[in-house]
Amino acid sequence: MPRALVKVLAHTPDPERAVAVAARLCYSPRSVENLSDSLTDEEISSLIGKIVEMGHYSPLEHAVFTFGIDNISRACSHQLVRHRVASYSQQSQRYVTLTKVSAITPPSIEADAEAKALFEEKLEELWAFYSALVERGVAPEDARYILPNACETKIVVTMNARELHHFFALRLCHRAQWEIRDMALEVYRAIAPIAPGLFKGAGPGCVSGACPEGEYSCGRAKEVRAELSQALPA
Ligand SMILES: Cc1cc2nc3c(=O)[nH]c(=O)nc-3n(C[C@H](O)[C@H](O)[C@H](O)COP(=O)(O)OP(=O)(O)OC[C@H]3O[C@@H](n4cnc5c(N)ncnc54)[C@H](O)[C@@H]3O)c2cc1C
Repeated sequence: MPRALVKVLAHTPDPERAVAVAARLCYSPRSVENLSDSLTDEEISSLIGKIVEMGHYSPLEHAVFTFGIDNISRACSHQLVRHRVASYSQQSQRYVTLTKVSAITPPSIEADAEAKALFEEKLEELWAFYSALVERGVAPEDARYILPNACETKIVVTMNARELHHFFALRLCHRAQWEIRDMALEVYRAIAPIAPGLFKGAGPGCVSGACPEGEYSCGRAKEVRAELSQALPA
């Protein structure tokens, strides 16, 4: 199965402390001058647990993560950028001329030898046509109109922990399309171990309770919980 490559590029130093300090301000008479004083790991964990349980998510916005993603299709990146509470920088098809076939093959096509051969043949044809247009002097920004959704792309994303919770809830669910789910799992595996206290319990509804999807439930709640807990430190 294709695997998105996810690399964390930067994040708020000590993200759990940053969130706990913001939460502490809400519930104590302390001044900002002594807000961080004598804040133990136990208190950090307790403050985070308290706000997540109460649904008081705004302190999570103080922890920010920047990560790069390689090896996803434009079909996948189009779904990703629908998440508006985030910042994106994506490899340009205007300024970067694509010189060779670089595309994501869905597992259903990969598993069918005949479909795979036809898919690859069509990709070669499309790329040859794209290159011919560029050679004739058509600008890459116009030649790209013939390129498929399968085109491989790269993107840098910045999301805060609150938006990551929302993203994981929607995209780690088996109702999400396979490629964005696969990518969201790689994002979770890269980010959750940095701040396990912040992301404990993150994911679709079935992670912390019964599946809320009703008749659309995939029935794989146990598998989802195991998959996510394996990504966190023991
Ligand atoms: C299983 C699945 C199927 C989908 N199918 C389709 C489909 O068929 N067609 C389609 O177009 N999309 C589809 N989507 C995409 C979906 O509609 C959302 O665009 C995407 O999931 C981003 O979610 P969001 O808007 O909640 O997130 P974000 O844009 O990250 O926003 C986070 C939250 O901020 C708040 N918010 C953000 N912007 C606004 C605003 N302007 N006004 C009010 N509140 C705001 C909302 O509470 C929102 O939930 C699908 C998504 C999933 C997971």
